[in-house]
Amino acid sequence: MSKGPQSSYLAALGIDVYRLRDRPPASIPATPAPACAVAEPAPANDDRWPTLEAEVSKCTRCELHRGRTQTVFGVGRRDARLLVIGEAPGAEEDRQGEPFVGRAGILLNAMLRSIGLARGDVYIANILKCRPPGNRDPKPDETAECTPYLERQIELIAPRAALAVGRIAAQHLLQSDEPIGRLRGKLLSFGARRIPLVVTYHPAYLLRSPSAKSKSWQDLCLLRQLLKSGS
Ligand code: SF4
Repeated sequence: MSKGPQSSYLAALGIDVYRLRDRPPASIPATPAPACAVAEPAPANDDRWPTLEAEVSKCTRCELHRGRTQTVFGVGRRDARLLVIGEAPGAEEDRQGEPFVGRAGILLNAMLRSIGLARGDVYIANILKCRPPGNRDPKPDETAECTPYLERQIELIAPRAALAVGRIAAQHLLQSDEPIGRLRGKLLSFGARRIPLVVTYHPAYLLRSPSAKSKSWQDLCLLRQLLKSGS
């Protein structure tokens, strides 16, 4: 067993560390990294944050406002180098008002810690700020109405890199209908600023499909290299 500091987190991911030696982590592809026009993050006392959060909390732009307990705005460092983007709140997130809580949140935390990041080091947000009923996929009109909020968050955070977790988030950010298996495992970029992006599986999927965890670990290694290359 590895004696490295990540071993306990790899164990939390359910990853066999010995097997990783036979299957080395992905490295950043030889293709040049996308150009990234990095903006300065907004100062912590910038009133655009409370303005945006208040706007979201009262939003009725789409039908999802009818069934929500509360909006789930996002959580974390507002000057984070890494932005984690998921799909939409689930039942527990709707109850607690925070993205990625419960078992999927615990696994996401372990995934971040496996590459040396605490949950509090990053910013975590979803594309949709309200829970779709029965955790169904977001509808196009819902994502269209809600995406401007995420875009404003991205503008304020000005992250160096982003991690899309799950098919819905990845396809939406990349404006692609490719399956997640074709989007993960490589360095991509999204948005007007061409923010470097790594795609991986949603922790809820990993809980259901543990065999995908080794691929997710490869994605995390790619992300770690990306973050190191930008430091
Ligand atoms: S999902 Fe987004 S657009 Fe729809 S009501 Fe909630 S905050 Fe508004």
